[in-house]
Amino acid sequence: MTEERLQKVIAEAGLASRREAERMILAGRVRVDGKVVKQLGTKVSSFEQVVVDGQPVERQAKHTYLFYKPRGVVSTVKDEKGRKTVADYFQDLPYRLYPVGRLDYDTSGLLLMTNDGELANLLMHPKNEVNKVYVAKIKGQLTPSEIKALESGVRINKGKFKTKPARVKILKTDKKKDAQIVQVTIHEGHYHQVKEMFLAVHHLVDRLSREKYSFLTLDGLISGQYRELTHKEIDKLK
Ligand code: URA
Repeated sequence: MTEERLQKVIAEAGLASRREAERMILAGRVRVDGKVVKQLGTKVSSFEQVVVDGQPVERQAKHTYLFYKPRGVVSTVKDEKGRKTVADYFQDLPYRLYPVGRLDYDTSGLLLMTNDGELANLLMHPKNEVNKVYVAKIKGQLTPSEIKALESGVRINKGKFKTKPARVKILKTDKKKDAQIVQVTIHEGHYHQVKEMFLAVHHLVDRLSREKYSFLTLDGLISGQYRELTHKEIDKLK
């Protein structure tokens, strides 16, 4: 059962900003299950009724979707350059969804979209180490020592980070075209991480797709489609 701070519940219902909600609480205008609560930061569960000035507060239902992001779409809700965004795919839904992390404009694959800020923060927290499986089409062919380097960790983003252990599996080699399809499993989410990892061993990524996020896959979806996660799947993610 998730609990949220009272001022957040009021703000999320669109009744006030967090600041204003705090003032409402201090002024004794807020009741939880019939009792006036003046303590800021009091946590309430979805089973408790919150009332402001005698009006019940409608709690926003949480929704999380698994989206098959196409290439050529930005992972933000607005784009200054007017490019297509992930939010464009969810326009018909009555709530605002935000991407959990990012996929590059030219990367396709599995992206979670949610209005559950708590879940998004949990999943994006480095401590959580969510498994992510990517498939990359690279130029050239990896040598055993390059694979070893990728698996044990390489320096990326101008030497700023050393990547944590990863798993690398060659799925296909095209000797004629001097190209490979490589599966990479990582647990982090540095900027352009997969492309940077290959760059560190002198290979360019031609195409990149995220095939798996934790236990979730794209099964049953085609590019541009989405489906809502079940409660069971959400519990499993936590
Ligand atoms: N790594 C990348 O380089 N790009 C992505 O979109 C995701 C991971």
